[in-house]
Amino acid sequence: MEAYGESPRPEPMNALLEQPATPSSGHTIASIRISHHRLPLEPPCPARWDTRNRVHFDATIVRVRTDSGLEGWGSGDLMVGFAGHEALFVGQDALAIERHHRVLSHIDFHYGRCWPLDLALWDLAGKITGQPCWRLLGGLSSRVRVYASSGTLREPAALAEQAERYLAQGFRAMKIRFRRGDWREDIRALEAVRARIGQRLELMVDCNQGWRMPWDTEAPWSLKDALAVARELEHLRVFWMEEPLHRGDHAGMKALRQATEVRIAGGEMTRQLHELRDLITTGSIDVLQPDAALVGGITGLRLVAGLADAPFLEYAYDPPEWTLERRDFIMTEPLKADAHGWLHLSDAPGMGYALDERALTATSL
Ligand SMILES: [Mg+2]
Repeated sequence: MEAYGESPRPEPMNALLEQPATPSSGHTIASIRISHHRLPLEPPCPARWDTRNRVHFDATIVRVRTDSGLEGWGSGDLMVGFAGHEALFVGQDALAIERHHRVLSHIDFHYGRCWPLDLALWDLAGKITGQPCWRLLGGLSSRVRVYASSGTLREPAALAEQAERYLAQGFRAMKIRFRRGDWREDIRALEAVRARIGQRLELMVDCNQGWRMPWDTEAPWSLKDALAVARELEHLRVFWMEEPLHRGDHAGMKALRQATEVRIAGGEMTRQLHELRDLITTGSIDVLQPDAALVGGITGLRLVAGLADAPFLEYAYDPPEWTLERRDFIMTEPLKADAHGWLHLSDAPGMGYALDERALTATSL
């Protein structure tokens, strides 16, 4: 019996939202290949967000190939949990990126972060259309300002010398790591840098309290610890204070943000797009720092970018421990900032880099 009599049954909302099939672009995903690589680091790299010296640097490469013979590349995370899901993509239109993003977000819900596939799909989209990704995204500019991101804890005088070298190379901004055990020692290192370079560099500080490696069981700072540090950073005119508290302590970040003039930054590995949105809408943060390879891919971060402006791109560079050759070993040419601290975006189709196949073969796991 019809409960509604003669009147038509209302259409369910999700049926209305279902997209009609779109005509194929003519580029169908034929295969997805994943390879893992390990670059030995000799001498080791003492990155201070990791309590163990790093003796190798791992990279995972994702290659998406179409039946038309084009290939897109992505890298940035291990693709844990992707195995067994290839059939959800193979046979699909390569340019149906929003559809692929939904599937990747469901994989992320159950398993690991598989966003390098989203990067590979954007690289592929650029190669299909003959355009660089930044232009496909409506890019405002073909260059971005970088900051030299240091990772090594140096003695105050040595850190000040490193700052001088960054200045001589054209950088306009430098990030300094804290975590010498007592934050007062970290402040002394920062004071030495400020005394040496004056206001010629913007200085950022990464407290790394929202970041832990699996073996690192140290508790993050309390709000009062963070506030005491923030007072010092205000005095030293620091541009932002990164991860001052546990990443989930939104109330603490909001209270800290209201109590200090220093910008509060974070969100590098914040897992869900709605969490990034909430960091903004709850007033917890000034500077959002999502990593596209770890959070949402390019497709997801397009949404978040509408809520934030980003003045700087992190440029991990702290020689001799962390060089461009180590950082970008998977590429034929490392990404190099110019003599004025800008990174110029390539006009080549896709992401604009080439894989160094010889290096990948030599480091294959
Ligand atoms: Mg950080």
